[in-house]
Amino acid sequence: MNFYILTLFPEMVMNGLSTSITGRAIEAGILHIEAVNIRDFTSEKHGHVDDYPYGGGAGMVMQAEPVYKAYQYVCDKIGHKPTVIYMTPQGRTFNQQIAGELAKLNDIVLLCGHYEGIDERVLEMIVDDYISIGDFVLTGGELPAMAIVDTVSRLVPGVLNNNDSAEIETFHDNLLEYPQYTRPAEFMGKRVPDVLLSGHHKNIEAWRLEQSLERTKKQRPDLYDKYLSEHGKNNHS
Ligand code: SAM
Repeated sequence: MNFYILTLFPEMVMNGLSTSITGRAIEAGILHIEAVNIRDFTSEKHGHVDDYPYGGGAGMVMQAEPVYKAYQYVCDKIGHKPTVIYMTPQGRTFNQQIAGELAKLNDIVLLCGHYEGIDERVLEMIVDDYISIGDFVLTGGELPAMAIVDTVSRLVPGVLNNNDSAEIETFHDNLLEYPQYTRPAEFMGKRVPDVLLSGHHKNIEAWRLEQSLERTKKQRPDLYDKYLSEHGKNNHS
């Protein structure tokens, strides 16, 4: 799977994504992650990529031309038009389901804005999808792009050591994951629940489901309602 991140801050993106699990997957050749520096595509003699907004107002706006040329570089490199996603607080809110949709694609361009954003004309020309990571405003699209690459990568076969572990986590089947414990069996007087030490797999599974249901009902009643309706139940008992 190939990610191309169009950004003014390539080191920020690559430093973050070259570590830990995504870093290992890059080294293993399972992921190709490339930060494309939009500044390399400006024809402005001082290397500027932004200008004042028409109509006035605060801040600067990223110009259309360098963004378009950076996109064209990716198209030329892969020989076809990739799916282009603009990181923006105005987009649909990212979640595990969207991550699953994106994991089916081969080539994804994540376009990161800065300052007040990007000239609307180039967005109209190249963008297929607008994604936000939440109802708050960051200074740039780099952290959202990294969050998306990280989340989607975990769903790509071979990226996690244990292929099953992304299947049974929080948000699977609209439930939050059960609590996890590791050694020692007792920590500052607090013991791991006996059932987990019992070796009785059926009981462990039942306990985990019960815990998942309980914490989802308490912490995410919206998800709990979805779980109930998808399992043909219509009350909170
Ligand atoms: N003026 C823009 C607006 O009001 O919609 C916000 C611009 S923001 C300061 C600069 C850049 O950060 C945006 O172009 C976008 O790429 C990114 N960004 C900020 N918040 C984001 C969020 N919640 N999700 C995704 N991208 C975000």
